[in-house]
Amino acid sequence: MGDFIEEALAGPTVFTDEEVFSFDYVPPELVERDDEQRWLAGLFKPALANDKAVTCRVTGRVGTGKTAIVKRFLQDLHEAGRKRGQRFEHVHVNCRRRSTAAKALHQVISHFDKGFPDRGFSVTEMLDSLKKRVAKDEAHVVIVLDEVDELLSKSGTDLIYNLSRFHEEPPEDGNVSLVLISQRDVFDMLDDASRSTMRRTNHLDLEPYTQKQLVHIVEQRADLGLRPGALSPDATDLITDIASRDGDARYAIELLHTAGKAADHAGDERIVAEHVRRAKAETRRSVWEGQVLGLPLHKQLTMLAIARALKKEGSYTTTGKVEEIYRVLCEALDEQPRGHTQFWTYLNELTGVGLIETKASGEGIVGSTTVISLPDVPAEEMEDVLEGELEV
Ligand code: ADP
Ligand code: MG
Repeated sequence: MGDFIEEALAGPTVFTDEEVFSFDYVPPELVERDDEQRWLAGLFKPALANDKAVTCRVTGRVGTGKTAIVKRFLQDLHEAGRKRGQRFEHVHVNCRRRSTAAKALHQVISHFDKGFPDRGFSVTEMLDSLKKRVAKDEAHVVIVLDEVDELLSKSGTDLIYNLSRFHEEPPEDGNVSLVLISQRDVFDMLDDASRSTMRRTNHLDLEPYTQKQLVHIVEQRADLGLRPGALSPDATDLITDIASRDGDARYAIELLHTAGKAADHAGDERIVAEHVRRAKAETRRSVWEGQVLGLPLHKQLTMLAIARALKKEGSYTTTGKVEEIYRVLCEALDEQPRGHTQFWTYLNELTGVGLIETKASGEGIVGSTTVISLPDVPAEEMEDVLEGELEV
């Protein structure tokens, strides 16, 4: 025993740092987004110069670098502030995970006060507490609501409205800026008051990456995490060709990572096109991943429940099993499960967009029930993608 582990550790590897391939890694510098970063810097100039609140929206398809550019920019802003003796703090809230005003706000407050109790405070009380905290710390806080459409469709515009109030009556010696990230622009979903603070033109729309741009992104990631020379030009070509169909940097990086693991597995010292083809067959994500990542929370939970059920049971599972797992997931995430009728609607809609297949059970299953299968996606991959996204 243990020999296998030693063997794996002793084998050749193309990686020098596998961490740079993880979902939430942000490189020290982004490539191919200079103009966009310049635009953000211009927009935030009043925050640096006069501590003025700034609001903006960032939109773009999956993998266009929305999350990365905002995280990168705010770390840079923090640093620029530090040099000038100003304190910039930022809190990045994933609204898919925290889709109510209370949950989102709780994360913001916990940034300042680690022990803040997660129950027993109303949204109004938390807003007050945040205001006091910002004033006391003399900080400029940038609140990022990522995947904000999830919050808007679940909790309405109240939180955004309230946070934009800070803008009119800034706490003494501090201020609060707001960045909203989503795939589609949410401007028209906002109430009039928030709209006037958000300003229609404070909007950065990120275009899908071209193949040439993806080449730079892939080469940068290779420099950060692979041995020099470990990536062949052939492999880069193929990776970026595949990922440029959706302009998706996330998919490109994932293909690179998986191809690297395929090379390691084969004991090869260099990633070549064949490893990429294998990686693609293993992931084959371009179509369905974007689709799944764009679903609202409860449909994602339903998909995850289906994936988990199928992983255990093989080709088909039943709606009963799936609903059971769905409820357990809701409980784990502290989410109110949707009722039976709503759950059926989800299944119908997921069938409608082709993510799942449903049919009446044939022989072998007692009684008449509906069975569910995944058309051509491995259940385990579906599970991985959703677990990464939902942090469960
Ligand atoms: P989105 O939030 O739009 O779905 P992400 O910001 O998560 O996309 O980006 C997906 C992946 O691609 C991340 O690993 C990110 O670091 C990387 N990435 C995106 N744009 C760039 C870029 N311009 N330079 C380097 N890496 C990038
Ligand atoms: Mg994102």
